[in-house]
Amino acid sequence: MEFKMDVFANSIKGLPIFKYEFGNNGNEVLILGGVHGDEPEGVIAAQGLLKSFLTLNDLNLKITLIPEFNIEGILNKQRHNCNGIDLNRNLPTRDWTSEVKNPRYFPGHSANSEPENQALVKLLDQRNYKLLISLHSFTPMINVNGSGWEAEAEILKKLTGYPIETDIGYPTPGSLGTLAGKERNIPTITFEIERDIDFKEINKIHVPAILAALKATEKK
Ligand SMILES: [Zn+2]
Repeated sequence: MEFKMDVFANSIKGLPIFKYEFGNNGNEVLILGGVHGDEPEGVIAAQGLLKSFLTLNDLNLKITLIPEFNIEGILNKQRHNCNGIDLNRNLPTRDWTSEVKNPRYFPGHSANSEPENQALVKLLDQRNYKLLISLHSFTPMINVNGSGWEAEAEILKKLTGYPIETDIGYPTPGSLGTLAGKERNIPTITFEIERDIDFKEINKIHVPAILAALKATEKK
């Protein structure tokens, strides 16, 4: 399938973060990989999707794919970007706070201070996404926020065996789930792939599961 590629944003050190757009018709979907640079499972899944979209020709969706969102974190195999900030705690949610409960989740000194997130917020303002998927790794789960995610989440659950969780168990101010899901009511799936799983399994199970779930988004 044909695609458009451009530089979505530049990281602190000026590295390009690439954005791919596939499809001309249908509902808009945003897929992010590598928000946390120490979760390679999400990057592998996003790259697997990139490979799939290149060969698919029956996609009735408009897909935006950013496979390596936190490129600096990925290169350094660290959760944070080069400013030491957890990008999934820095988005400008209503409950954002600069309070540091745990350095692992350092939210930055002000909300939306990072170039990656500024570009993401702009994209959310401009587009009308009917589904967001952010690919992470942790305890296996399909973490959902907002409403209207049921069809896709049920397919992911069926094909991966992962549970659907509406609550991760603790508040996540500054996260995509809070900003896009809770505040903007965009169906948002934070897909937590099992940490340290064999990458071959991701291409065999998780990538096809996401492609199957996207078939439900075509019909929305
Ligand atoms: Zn993560």
